[in-house]
Amino acid sequence: MEILLKNAQIITLDEDNDIIQEGSIGIRNNKIEYIGSSDHILEEEYAKVIDCKGRTVMPGFVNAHNHLAMTMFRNYADDMKLMDWLFTKIFPLEDKLTEEAVYWASLLAMVEMIKGGTTTFADMYFFMESTARAASESGMRAVLSRGLQGESGEEELDYRLRENLELYDKYHNSSNGRIKVMLGPHSIYTCSEAYLRKVAGKSRERRIPVQIHLSETKEEVKSCIEKHGSSPVRYLEAIGLLDEGTVAAHCVVVDDADIDILADRKVNVVHNPGSNMKLASGVAPVVKMLSKGINVCLGTDGASSNNNLDMLEEMRMAAYIQKVYTDDPTALPADQVMRMATERGAKALGFENTGRLSVGSVADIIVLNTEKAHYYPKYNIKSAIVYSGSSADVETVIIDGNLVMEGGHLITLDEERILYKAQKWALKLTE
Ligand SMILES: [Zn+2]
Repeated sequence: MEILLKNAQIITLDEDNDIIQEGSIGIRNNKIEYIGSSDHILEEEYAKVIDCKGRTVMPGFVNAHNHLAMTMFRNYADDMKLMDWLFTKIFPLEDKLTEEAVYWASLLAMVEMIKGGTTTFADMYFFMESTARAASESGMRAVLSRGLQGESGEEELDYRLRENLELYDKYHNSSNGRIKVMLGPHSIYTCSEAYLRKVAGKSRERRIPVQIHLSETKEEVKSCIEKHGSSPVRYLEAIGLLDEGTVAAHCVVVDDADIDILADRKVNVVHNPGSNMKLASGVAPVVKMLSKGINVCLGTDGASSNNNLDMLEEMRMAAYIQKVYTDDPTALPADQVMRMATERGAKALGFENTGRLSVGSVADIIVLNTEKAHYYPKYNIKSAIVYSGSSADVETVIIDGNLVMEGGHLITLDEERILYKAQKWALKLTE
């Protein structure tokens, strides 16, 4: 569809870091064909014209680490230690999940994400065909991985890896390139060394990048040193799982040598401040990692360790926690954290042609209503969004050139039905 956004304040996040006042964006064939002044625009050339007076337009958010179907366990078990929470509450309930439950839980996550301005997400879970189907229907951009974990026999583990590869063969670059697939070894503490080596081999052989949880807690690091004589980062480097396409979630407990390795190997790091705070995992040295040139981006992690998928809130938490951690209020300013939530995430997930607004970029765009009291008086719009904004301000969402929400109303998804189904499944799983 040809869409014209007019009379908008535009945060481009392009190379010149331009902010355009009263500008227009023309979208055709899923790409931005025009961005700039509204003066010479021919409205009749567009099938759909959206007046953005009093609105701010920016790139959609990229939630680079998530487990969508864990929306099903949101607020089911809170205020617990990570391992206790995982092994006594989450894993037993996950055993009862079905393909259909994951489908509705994925849709529930997508309703929340689209309404909060997220256009792209990374997911690691199981029954991923259900999530692929949901992503295809919702219109969202996605990176999907079958979570590879388990203490069971080799046959079972091989079966999971095969499932991940089948997911790749079936869905990678599907839906006009909106859906990509990576390999998803869960972590060093849920996968044996032999299994990690096998995944690394497949990743190299098939040229499929990997996403993994890495150095999330002190316990993980301590037991890795006891078992393998090195930190998780050095352990994974030796196994051959760290390279340019790798997406490593958390990296909370990393020392200077670890950070140098992550930088050398060009690993993408996903910071999840909400989850790290809620589970008392600690604070990732984000400022230090950024200063070493690491591509650090932002994610919410699953909804049951956050407990929402709100990237606006995540940006604010990221900025605040770094300021406290470094004892420096200049740490992680609004512009930098906004880039972590958009273009850096897009780069990490291999969607380099999104995450900023410029001619030729793929149109993943959100429109926020900034004509509200908490945006007044108007000074610095990026600060206003990061420090004063709310996901409830997101009105319109365009992904891959298609309208998926307009004026707060979802176009691709039936919100009421999804909430009803999610509640029904939650009751069934916990009965
Ligand atoms: Zn996670």
